[in-house]
Amino acid sequence: MRKPERQIIPYRAKVVEPISLLPYEERVRRIEACGNNLFRLGSHEVYIDLITDSGTGALSVHQMGRMMIGDEAYAGSRSFFEMERQIRESMGYRYTIPVHQGRAGERVFDFVLIKKHMIVPGNSHFDTTKAHIEFAGGRAIDCTIDAGRTSEGYHPFKGNIDIPRLESVIREYGARHVAYVLVTVTCNSGGGQPVSMANIREVRRVADQYGLLVVLDAARFAENAYFIKTRETGYAHKSVPEIVQEMCSYTDACIMSAKKDALVPMGGFIAVRDDLLYERLKAPTILFEGFYTYGGMSGADMEALAQGLREVTDESYLAYRIGQVRRFGELLQKFGVPIVEPIGGHAVFIDARKFFPGVPEDEFPAQLLCAELYKEGGVRAVEVGSVLIGRDPDTGENIRPNLDLCRVTIPRRVYTFEHLEYVADVIRSVFEEKGPKLRHGLRFEVEAPGIRHFASTFRYVRGADGGTGDLP
Ligand SMILES: *Cc1c(COP(=O)(O)O)cnc(C)c1O
Repeated sequence: MRKPERQIIPYRAKVVEPISLLPYEERVRRIEACGNNLFRLGSHEVYIDLITDSGTGALSVHQMGRMMIGDEAYAGSRSFFEMERQIRESMGYRYTIPVHQGRAGERVFDFVLIKKHMIVPGNSHFDTTKAHIEFAGGRAIDCTIDAGRTSEGYHPFKGNIDIPRLESVIREYGARHVAYVLVTVTCNSGGGQPVSMANIREVRRVADQYGLLVVLDAARFAENAYFIKTRETGYAHKSVPEIVQEMCSYTDACIMSAKKDALVPMGGFIAVRDDLLYERLKAPTILFEGFYTYGGMSGADMEALAQGLREVTDESYLAYRIGQVRRFGELLQKFGVPIVEPIGGHAVFIDARKFFPGVPEDEFPAQLLCAELYKEGGVRAVEVGSVLIGRDPDTGENIRPNLDLCRVTIPRRVYTFEHLEYVADVIRSVFEEKGPKLRHGLRFEVEAPGIRHFASTFRYVRGADGGTGDLP
């Protein structure tokens, strides 16, 4: 028998977007001018942008081609029917409601399904998901397995829901107070940890026992399906589209941020099986988003989304995508950089407290790392730690999260592995030159109220630059 084929890159560039690296002195000046907050940088000031995988992927020639034939009719656009047909074919849901992005779907869905004091158990809800559940008067209850709550130790499906915990939560609150059970694929903890098929099946069994709806937060459904194929017994010989079909078959509805696994810059949808639920979702869609056959999307966008759903389950695409993130993480491990394990589907997380062991925990080591990576190589990563989590609303104290992380997020089909080798080299330099040396980090200059990570500014605590003299 012939040996297995080599890893291939299943696309090539046809159109390129120039990017450039500002000189070092200029990078130092710019990041200081932004108060060391990378959300305040313009993208033209960044060389390699790894702030998110949301809406940052590259379109294919087939998506671009279909965008040209987008039908911009207000009602009953042909492009809408194409998108609905594709969702039925790929995921099996009968009805589709387009929305402009994932959180808009959450707003519409929760408006209909959540009444005051209801709960939504699930596996580490996405931040807007949790916020929308609360905004509608409900509460998100995290039922992720214990193994998924730590950065160490291998478990193939760290995104799994703890089934006994789910059952006890349902019994504690009473089934009539459960709006629905939410399964997020991939789970947000650790940069996209997958959920196993067996676990989704078990969630369905429990939900049936109590007469509950199961809803899929499908943002990275294809990446999850690929992990099932490569890690779960019995799935190696199934195709990714078949695995997606089975995952969805255990659920009643899905909410999707198309900016992730539908490979489009903007868009989303709610998809449901039940016609009565579909009818109930129409009115709030019209109110918040637009008529229920476009819901905030253009015909061109709906064509690109439909095409993206086909392309994303291609196995050579997924093998390269998941493999690229893994190889990047492994390269960092080889350099001794402390990262969260196992490596997830769309991002690598650096443990900043271990990266800067000398920096006090309340001087924002992960934010410091983001600022240092920008200065060192024009790389933009994002803090997922104390700055993001904010203050306790009751005591006003800074909450100290279990982990202070710097997320390096990989956009889809955008960067080659050479780009990522450059990024790994930048991280390595900061790690070797400053990791053990820095004794101080950052403090707030202006702390923005509310969602503070977008707008706050920071100043270096004296000595944090390790004596390079570019800071007071
Ligand atoms: C991005 C995301 C959302 C929200 O979608 P937006 O398109 O950003 O509004 C919801 N859930 C998950 C899991 C996500 O990754």
